[in-house]
Amino acid sequence: MNRGEMLYEGKAKRVYLTDDPDRVWVEYKDDATAFNARKKGKITGKGQLNNQISSFFFRYLREKGIENHFLETLSDTEQIVKKVAILPVEVVVRNRAAGSLARRLGLEEGISFSRPVVEFYYKDDRLDDPLINEDHIRLLNAATDDQLAMMRQTALKVNRLLSKLMEERGITLVDFKLEFGLNREGHLLLADEISPDTCRFWEAATGQKLDKDRFRRDLGNVENAYREIWNRLGGETRV
Ligand code: UDP
Repeated sequence: MNRGEMLYEGKAKRVYLTDDPDRVWVEYKDDATAFNARKKGKITGKGQLNNQISSFFFRYLREKGIENHFLETLSDTEQIVKKVAILPVEVVVRNRAAGSLARRLGLEEGISFSRPVVEFYYKDDRLDDPLINEDHIRLLNAATDDQLAMMRQTALKVNRLLSKLMEERGITLVDFKLEFGLNREGHLLLADEISPDTCRFWEAATGQKLDKDRFRRDLGNVENAYREIWNRLGGETRV
């Protein structure tokens, strides 16, 4: 497969066309941003680690019956995925209080919830990705009712699967963000990326943060934290 013209450059990835109109070539970068790109940096090795970690999670979810855009890992930093049009809705699932939820509701970081909390954010950098509810999604025509129901249900299923997988490896899945997209036939698929950039992972035994909060909060050892996640998933060899 040949890499064609660059379709899109995001904060952490570049997406290229291929000679197959239904497939795109994704390259993971070492660039890191936080707070809607008001904080910028580089984490050496992040592109490689996130490419491998994300490939691993999508493969695992597919084995468990969750359809997604992932097709194959091409190289250390590259993968081939199905081409989809991403819906402008980010779906966040939370098992414990952290980040914006802890701030907004005045909850102590780390308290665990008896049931997961699902939230939707409107993907719009100009508006700083505001929190929206299902009525807002309808108002904005950002997703249909069926798509919304499917996103919520899939997100909760992903939460059950990944929480268990990570727990077995001594890691607590605190929260994470998912994105979904429509393929050419209009079929909704889980897409984008699942990695320490998009999830909060805490080491269960120590509470140590092994995710992008190390970058957001200048905690240091960011690359080692991402590598630790990859090692816990059986890392070292390329998936
Ligand atoms: N998240 C993400 N991209 C975003 C916003 C959030 O991947 O643009 C992830 C984040 O890493 C965390 C979860 O979604 O795992 C919830 O993030 P939160 O709303 O707490 O925002 P934060 O305080 O991290 O900006």
